Amino acid sequence: MIDISVDSHVHTRLCHHACGEMEDYVLSAINKGLRKIIFLEHLEVGIDYFESTWLTEEDFDYYHAEGKRLQEKHKKAITIGLGVEVGYNPRYINEIQQRLALHKWDRIGISYHFLETDSGHLNMVSRKQINIDRLNQYGVDEVLNRYYNNLKDAVERLPGQVLCHIDAVLRHHTEVKFKPAHYALLDELLDVVANKKMSLEVNTSGYTTKDEPYPSLAIIKKAIDRDIPLVAGSDAHRPEDVGRYFDRLPELMKKLAGCRQSVDGRKKY
Ligand SMILES: [Zn+2]
Ligand SMILES: [Zn+2]
Repeated sequence: MIDISVDSHVHTRLCHHACGEMEDYVLSAINKGLRKIIFLEHLEVGIDYFESTWLTEEDFDYYHAEGKRLQEKHKKAITIGLGVEVGYNPRYINEIQQRLALHKWDRIGISYHFLETDSGHLNMVSRKQINIDRLNQYGVDEVLNRYYNNLKDAVERLPGQVLCHIDAVLRHHTEVKFKPAHYALLDELLDVVANKKMSLEVNTSGYTTKDEPYPSLAIIKKAIDRDIPLVAGSDAHRPEDVGRYFDRLPELMKKLAGCRQSVDGRKKY
């Protein structure tokens, strides 16, 4: 149900909040016996934020040139994909499309990190207290509503193949609780993902803070019910984190498959 020989989501120092050269990630992946690694670097357009956590167009030129060099150099040991994690910004759809059109991507992952406010953007997946405090002014429910409504637009409007860390919104907030209304939004979102024949990422960075990946089991079940393919991503921001916790995924999938079979073919958990 999920291929753990491929890490479909790693970053590099180019995004300013990760460390290590591209080659360090490749070598780490080879060391861990992976068959394939896909770089999924941050592309954001029109974000008004106090620091840059994404690549410039010059960075992406280097990224592709260096990526091609590494593909050739290490082709006997591993397959390397050059992808992009494109962040949604409803006001800049055309510009985002134009930026995406500048390169050939092996994978486009869609995510939504930055919420627009009257005084610039706030990062909804950040651990920084300044983001959490200011998002609190809107209230958890409201942030979740906006996140899921906008993320659905993103999936409808952007040309992606994978939806990344679907429930990582407010992941460092201590009081996030999904209400039935939020699960209803999630259902709608997953319907769009299924219709667009996209995959859902099982992002193992979740295991660093809780006992589950992003998304949680309940949401992975919803994806399986819709026959949405699952792909594994470590979201490594350090070379040593490539493929982290992938060894836990077979067990998780077995558990989910068990749930599915235990009710004589009917999809009920
Ligand atoms: Zn990042
Ligand atoms: Zn992300």
